[in-house]
Amino acid sequence: MPGFEIFGEEEKKEIMDVLDTGVLFRYEFHEQRKGIYKVKEFEEKYAGYCGTSHAQAVTSGTAALKVALTALGVGPGDEVITQGFTFVATWEAILEVGAVPVFSEVDTTLNMDPQDLKKKINARTKCIVPVHMLGAQARIKEIVEVASQHGIPVLEDTAQAAGGRIEGKHLGTFGKCGTFSFDAVKTLTTGEGGMIITGDEELWRCMSEYHDHGHDHKVNPGARGGEGRRFIGSNYRMMELQGAIGLAQLAKLDFMIAAQQKNKAILKDAASRIPGISFRELVDEKGDTATHFAFTMQDKEQCSRVNECLRKDGVGAINFSENTWHFYPRWEHLLEGKTITSSGFPFTEPAGKRRIVYDPLALPQSSALMERTLVYPVSIRMPEEKLQLMSQALKKAQYV
Ligand SMILES: *Cc1c(COP(=O)(O)O)cnc(C)c1O
Repeated sequence: MPGFEIFGEEEKKEIMDVLDTGVLFRYEFHEQRKGIYKVKEFEEKYAGYCGTSHAQAVTSGTAALKVALTALGVGPGDEVITQGFTFVATWEAILEVGAVPVFSEVDTTLNMDPQDLKKKINARTKCIVPVHMLGAQARIKEIVEVASQHGIPVLEDTAQAAGGRIEGKHLGTFGKCGTFSFDAVKTLTTGEGGMIITGDEELWRCMSEYHDHGHDHKVNPGARGGEGRRFIGSNYRMMELQGAIGLAQLAKLDFMIAAQQKNKAILKDAASRIPGISFRELVDEKGDTATHFAFTMQDKEQCSRVNECLRKDGVGAINFSENTWHFYPRWEHLLEGKTITSSGFPFTEPAGKRRIVYDPLALPQSSALMERTLVYPVSIRMPEEKLQLMSQALKKAQYV
């Protein structure tokens, strides 16, 4: 999974280019920087890699979601539909722009169920945010189809699936825009960092301006100030060192995915004899980034027995129904409306009225699936001994 496994001379060289100029800021300082614009170059190469026209680098995957939602005009009074199996950042960003997250079920792809999505759309729905979780595709074509029938933009949270594709087309390019995270545990990592891609120039301009205090980098390329500001912005700028690492990592991304696919195939083969096992449904197996291997048992009891057996050999798997970061019924701070603001925002309106109430039992289909599903993270470099240990444990699990 994490790209830090293969940091090498390439990353060091890119970083030294920046340190040699002393310019850590992505804009201005044209004389000193000797033609080095790492963040800009990273954006251009990232957009090119994904086969789209525009990319905007930002400080994190969470910032990418916030900047994208803001540029799409989402705010107070709006609802945004995402899935109940994601990282907390997806709905934190929705709350941060003042909108209300609404959660859909996931299906056997472990991503947004388009049928349930249909039921959750209403007149307040302003954006739909499917997540390509655990490295693999949501049913993004169906989701975009449903959304377009209602004229609602789709933002793909592609934080966990950089380099993922469907029939060769990159994830993040199906909807209006796609966001990525380059945090410490993501496949392509810059330590902290994020990116938004879009084929819509006007949307990119809004993102570019918003992420840098309203400065227009189109009329004033590479510089700032002097131009009029169309609206109030903020600061989510990526710095040059991150851009430098990103360039080195991007050049390795396809290699990283191929290595993960190879390791995942070994695990999948070893698990295939477990009675009644089914594998997570992949929309396009070739385009899976293979950061995780997910498999589902017939029932919760078998799932516990199998994991107990794996644990005995020291290779227990993750059951996301027990995981407090990624699954709706486990987000107690969301369900209980815990906030640090004295006004109660975002859960309470200024007048004191509770505006959001969540039912922990609201996603029965997802719960039934998650409690039977086990997940292994897959990394780029898995030592032979580790792979063997896991394979042997998975083969043993067929007898429990
Ligand atoms: C990691 C992640 C994010 C947030 O990214 P950060 O860079 O850590 O802020 C958002 N969504 C999903 C699905 C993630 O996995």
